Amino acid sequence: MRFEAFAVKNIPFIKKGDDIAQIICERTNILDGDIIVIASTIVGKAEGRTFSLKDIVPGQDAIELSQHVRFPPAFVQAVLDRSKECLIPSPVLLVEMKNGHICINAGIDESNVEDEMFLDLPVNPDASAEYIGKRIESLTGTQISVIITDTNGRAFKRGQTGVAVGVYCIHPLKDWKGQKDLFGKELKITEEAVADEIAGASNLLMGEGNDGCPVVIIRGLKLRCEDNASVKEMYRSDNEDIIKKCLLRDRTQR
Ligand code: GDP
Ligand code: MN
Ligand code: MN
Repeated sequence: MRFEAFAVKNIPFIKKGDDIAQIICERTNILDGDIIVIASTIVGKAEGRTFSLKDIVPGQDAIELSQHVRFPPAFVQAVLDRSKECLIPSPVLLVEMKNGHICINAGIDESNVEDEMFLDLPVNPDASAEYIGKRIESLTGTQISVIITDTNGRAFKRGQTGVAVGVYCIHPLKDWKGQKDLFGKELKITEEAVADEIAGASNLLMGEGNDGCPVVIIRGLKLRCEDNASVKEMYRSDNEDIIKKCLLRDRTQR
């Protein structure tokens, strides 16, 4: 009943085209069953997902929405371009992204990138996790899992925490249904969000500013799976998500 978490030291400033798997493997010894937790920031940078607002022409919707948020129209356009649905338009832009991830500003960051530049999440973070994971496995001859994380705020509470936005060989939820509690009663609904828990723990070592610590290794948890895993397992369907339903109903009534 113990696991270890440590940051990989001396990761350089990541640029487009960098081989993240190799950079990690050159700096630490990977063991079977390790969970490699990687900040989405460096995955986005390696995939060349930085952009400048100068290259974006905002449409009428973005111009109108920008009056209610603290961002210029071109930024709002960038958020809308990456979103399936805008759930809350102000005072923050809460959107559902194309893969189902719900977050503020479509996860676009301006911290830890050059001045005047903005950084996207990877387009398909599960695919990025798989790409990096398979490459680590082939470089090291191990079987591992990967979680790509971002820092997100939460509904109802102050404070941001690390969350999983992409996974490889780890199911984001651990199903406790059918297991017994201490009194022998069957658990009926519990699904533990293990990938988010690991992301939160790893974020403690990553930090948010100039720590320069985008990669954390989690060792000692037996969570590797063989079958396909996806962060989509966590996202509620439109029908099931009562909060989303309220927001959308609210929007049509406005
Ligand atoms: P996010 O949570 O994925 O949006 O990433 P953050 O901007 O919060 O950064 C997480 C951690 O990675 C922080 O410790 C940053 O200092 C660090 N970081 C971000 N980019 C780089 C990079 O290119 N190289 C290194 N070594 N660290 C980075
Ligand atoms: Mn981020
Ligand atoms: Mn962060």
